[in-house]
Amino acid sequence: MSGLSVNDVTKKFGSFAAVDRVQLDVPQGTFVCLLGPSGCGKTTLLRMIAGLEVPTSGAIVLDGQDITQVPTHKRNLGMVFQSLALFPHLSVGDNIAYALRIRSASKAAQKARVDELLTMIHLDGFADRPVAKLSGGQRQRVAIARALALSPKLFLLDEPLSALDAKLREAMQVELRQLQQQLGITTIVVTHDQREAMTMADLVVVMGQGKIRQAAPPIDIYRQPADSFVADFIGSTNLLELRADSTGRATIFGQPVAGLSLPDELTRAPLSVRPEDVHVTAPGHGTIDGTVTFVRDLGGTIETFVQVGDKTIVAVATPRERPDVKAGQSVGVSLPAASCVVLRS
Ligand code: ATP
Repeated sequence: MSGLSVNDVTKKFGSFAAVDRVQLDVPQGTFVCLLGPSGCGKTTLLRMIAGLEVPTSGAIVLDGQDITQVPTHKRNLGMVFQSLALFPHLSVGDNIAYALRIRSASKAAQKARVDELLTMIHLDGFADRPVAKLSGGQRQRVAIARALALSPKLFLLDEPLSALDAKLREAMQVELRQLQQQLGITTIVVTHDQREAMTMADLVVVMGQGKIRQAAPPIDIYRQPADSFVADFIGSTNLLELRADSTGRATIFGQPVAGLSLPDELTRAPLSVRPEDVHVTAPGHGTIDGTVTFVRDLGGTIETFVQVGDKTIVAVATPRERPDVKAGQSVGVSLPAASCVVLRS
């Protein structure tokens, strides 16, 4: 296969498996985000792909070649880490040209490549600036250009945007994705920010406790989460319980829900329904009734919190669909069966 394969890779530190039998196939040109809570093994997996850690077992294959034992500098990688490690005493141009200079590229070739990369990162004319004089976002772009100077096969980034403020981070996510698409380079980014992953990735890999919980395109992860861990981690969701009644019908809070059924043999299963799919209606007109406990009006969206039994269900509406309700009011809550995802665990 052209691209990257992580074949049944485990990394143990003592007896603890930080990465546990991970299997991942990344076609050439794919943008992958490794996503998951702190300590789930994202960085360890990236470091093994980079050659900075050796797997305890398994193999890493790039374009058909087993690179598990190949040292980092021979893997043809570009890397950007959270601490950018730009050379503070060098200019922007000299930072970007660093790897070319080490490989004794001619001055003319270095300048041509630096100019090309500066255009790509929207910093034309910045070659002679000291890096110390750049803003955070500009520094980030220089680090990216420096990593791409040798046209690597694989681009690896570990939390590259986490030091930036929220607005700049969002803008850089779009820039990074556009740059990757322009170059067609296979890219793997570690992040714990699900919004970042949804913005950039072709393939989101959700990890938990060293294992891949789900690997799929962002919208599939959002719409068809594999289990409650993934559903809860990606976006916000209402996690409820679907239960069989004495006749085997699927119910939520004791109310039958048309169009839903429990997986084979099970009498209960978790169910995920996204807040934007939940509608507040008049009492008796929804799937279940409840009491409004709070309305959060954020201008662009309105969140209504409804207490049903021991659960709070959140419904999100736009100002046009705004339910005219306030705290303390009895309401109906519609949970459309087509938007409810019955989970395995
Ligand atoms: P974060 O988002 O916090 O960076 P992560 O998902 O990237 O987390 P890793 O850094 O891969 O997680 O760490 C996974 C687990 O392996 C953690 O429990 C960590 O403490 C452990 N670990 C990582 N490196 C080592 C090491 N060199 N020696 C021992 N344990 C390690």
